[in-house]
Amino acid sequence: MVLYSHSRISAFRQCPYKFRLKYIDKVRPEIEQTIESFLGMLVHDTLERLYRDLRFQKMNTVKDLLKYYNEQWEKNWNTAILIVRKGYTPENYRMMGEKFIADYYEKHKPFDQAKTVGLEQRIMIDLSGDGKYKLQGYIDRLALRSDGTYEVHDYKTNSNLPLNEYLNNDRQLAIYAMAVRKNYPDAEKIKLIWHFLSFNKDTVLEKTDEELEQLRKDVISDIKEIESTAKFPTNKTKLCEWCEFRPMCPEWSHIAKTEAMTIKEFLKDSGVVLVNRYADLTEKKKAVEDEMNRVREAIVRYAREHNVRTLGGSGYDAKVWSAEKFKFPGKNEEGRQDLEAFLQKSGLIKDVSALDVFLLSQKMDEPDWPHDIKKALRKFGRRELIEKIYLKKKDSGE
Ligand code: SF4
Repeated sequence: MVLYSHSRISAFRQCPYKFRLKYIDKVRPEIEQTIESFLGMLVHDTLERLYRDLRFQKMNTVKDLLKYYNEQWEKNWNTAILIVRKGYTPENYRMMGEKFIADYYEKHKPFDQAKTVGLEQRIMIDLSGDGKYKLQGYIDRLALRSDGTYEVHDYKTNSNLPLNEYLNNDRQLAIYAMAVRKNYPDAEKIKLIWHFLSFNKDTVLEKTDEELEQLRKDVISDIKEIESTAKFPTNKTKLCEWCEFRPMCPEWSHIAKTEAMTIKEFLKDSGVVLVNRYADLTEKKKAVEDEMNRVREAIVRYAREHNVRTLGGSGYDAKVWSAEKFKFPGKNEEGRQDLEAFLQKSGLIKDVSALDVFLLSQKMDEPDWPHDIKKALRKFGRRELIEKIYLKKKDSGE
């Protein structure tokens, strides 16, 4: 039985390929750490120290905390740490961390709003009640107010401020709330508190029992999906820039290799040559298609204006065909559902509908169709490797 965590499940959601490398193949990445995660780790560590010392009645000044933070930075810094954002130095990030800590200190001193129950507290939750689906996590800080309210605190050092809607759907703290409810029977009221340190802003939410129950079911369903999947495709997004597996990822390894080349080497690389040729031909094809559309429209216009049906050319004649037809709403257009319902009811649907083999082929790879039906369908078709190329303009780097 695998012990799951929020980060394990969200890694699968973010990119199944990354999930496979990290949790199944246990590949050691070339990039050990990005500067964002290094900074986040040290800020968390410093705030943990603040509250740990407070438990022992030791009140650090902000100067003490910054001294501790800077010592840890010096001690742990290494040049293998990756800085993705161009134009910023480690010093910029170190100062950012100082500001996060100083702002947090100023905003929350004298830190007596609630008593700290746990720091980096490990929580474990049995989602199914039979030990089959277990989840673990670490709460940055669990606190208890004098009115009996539990608080789940989470420090965020990222530089974007999520919308409330995003936080409403965020699972991490809600999972922690489930665990707190199970482990502390007196926890009737639980607040989820995100500290967005870049903005010196706290966001507080509460979850209803119904929402937590739905989340429990959703997480079990996610785990079942992970355990039943045999395919781990790559998912290329903006987040790839911070992915520790980028140099070995099939989406990026050629790009990373060519980025390190001189211009001469780059233009000679056979992969680069092929892509450039393909892009060149695609652009030419597009120009030809645009021109064909323009000429087609001109022929139709000519035929209409001169009241002719066929135009003569050198080696070809061009016949213009036109007819008025009924137009019904397309697949996703308004009125489509009513049309389908009408045809179903009148029993005429079979006369005007055709088997969609593209959709059928998609269904063969989806888990919602019964296994025995898929098995029976296999004899009607065969597996084929389909290979396509999508050209995408490179980002300008802005
Ligand atoms: S670089 Fe992107 S696509 Fe590749 S493994 Fe990482 S997240 Fe997935």
